[in-house]
Amino acid sequence: MTAAAPMQPYWNPKNETMPREALRALQLLKLRRLCAFAVERSPFHRRRFAAAGLRPEALRTWEDLHRIPFMTREELMASQAAGPPFGDLLADDSRTAVRYHLTSGSSGSTPIRVLDGLKDWEWAAEMWCYGLWGFGVRPADTVYLAFGYGSFIGFWGAHYACEKIGALVVPGGAQSTESRVRQLLEVGATTLCSTPTYALRLAQEAVRQGIELPRDARVERLIVSGEPAGSIPSAKRQLERAWGARCGDAAGMTEIGTLAMFECSAQPGGLHIIEDHMIEEVVDPDSGEPLPYGTLGERVVTSFGRGLLPLIRYRTRDMVVKVPYSACSCGRTTDLYRGGIRGRWDDMKVVRGTNVYARSVEEIVRAVDAIEEFQIYLWRADDLRDEITVRVELRTDWAGDWDGVARRLVQELGCAHEGLRFNVERVASGSLPRFELKAKRLVDDRPAAGYGDTAAAVGEE
Ligand SMILES: [Zn+2]
Repeated sequence: MTAAAPMQPYWNPKNETMPREALRALQLLKLRRLCAFAVERSPFHRRRFAAAGLRPEALRTWEDLHRIPFMTREELMASQAAGPPFGDLLADDSRTAVRYHLTSGSSGSTPIRVLDGLKDWEWAAEMWCYGLWGFGVRPADTVYLAFGYGSFIGFWGAHYACEKIGALVVPGGAQSTESRVRQLLEVGATTLCSTPTYALRLAQEAVRQGIELPRDARVERLIVSGEPAGSIPSAKRQLERAWGARCGDAAGMTEIGTLAMFECSAQPGGLHIIEDHMIEEVVDPDSGEPLPYGTLGERVVTSFGRGLLPLIRYRTRDMVVKVPYSACSCGRTTDLYRGGIRGRWDDMKVVRGTNVYARSVEEIVRAVDAIEEFQIYLWRADDLRDEITVRVELRTDWAGDWDGVARRLVQELGCAHEGLRFNVERVASGSLPRFELKAKRLVDDRPAAGYGDTAAAVGEE
């Protein structure tokens, strides 16, 4: 479709405000079409449907959706390992593809290779249009993409979406942070797209250059993606303050190839799901049973737009809480994930019997104004006792009471984690790693990787 009228708040008014019943009927129709296509064209899907004794034409009601077997990342990896490079997943000849990308492999696993054709990229751009437009990007905007333009899919789709909207896009590719700051001022960027970590890093670099972003830059909105921080209230406030701009969260994944959800201008504390192009389910991460609204569970996604790589009931391992569309006042009829993507189920660590998620630590750390960067370090003392240390770098221009900061952190972190004792350590400025893409702030240095990740491996000291 072509760009919406500039005053129009929705990119696709018809679908974004469609009555729920009509939306559900549209999804079911698209699901049947997708399954028939996948079974006909992709050996991977044919094999799985056959194993489940299911024929696409047997999918008639919403209940039937649950008869479709889940797809997992492990299956994708196994298929690609058995038949490199793409396994038996592709639904078309690989020669129809125009682009190759890789997953970021954030959980330390083997990256998955993905291929897309021209139509797939057209769709990927369209999905990003929903999100960019929905957070206020218009043809008159200048959008700065602080992103490496590498084989990780990241903001590639956002780039094409900006062009489709008619905004001026500035690809801030391979450059230093210092020159990116200078460039986005020079071009008068009104919108920045980056990871939340990197938006903060740019702001810190600006301070070092003596630039006051709220005064000197024209940036009105930050559109962040790739990490949960865009929906962590303390991190979001920190970004909004540093830039003097509004910060909207958006999320997608390489396996989908584009954006799946976005925060609208009403900023309801959640992300609208692009439901006319996807089915997003929330299930119990152990049993796979569907969970009701308002319950923390695992996100399962079916996407309708990727021709070469059909994705049907894919277990994302993302932690989400779905709420009905009425949780937002913007007029969209699409449901939301309250608090965005809250981390990953496989990112949970067990320390002396207590579950620790990087996100909940980040929430507390980011509320402390004095802290510039941090790292969560898990280690084992005397070969038997698990310890958790939060290493922090203070802002160079901050001259307050370190002991007070440390006491507050120990107290608040302990409180949020069943009384678990945290160590807090101040480290030299600039000593912790900085990230442009997905930040890895949790380092598990305990021997025997994986130990301690199951609820059974406990034992309070
Ligand atoms: Zn909304």
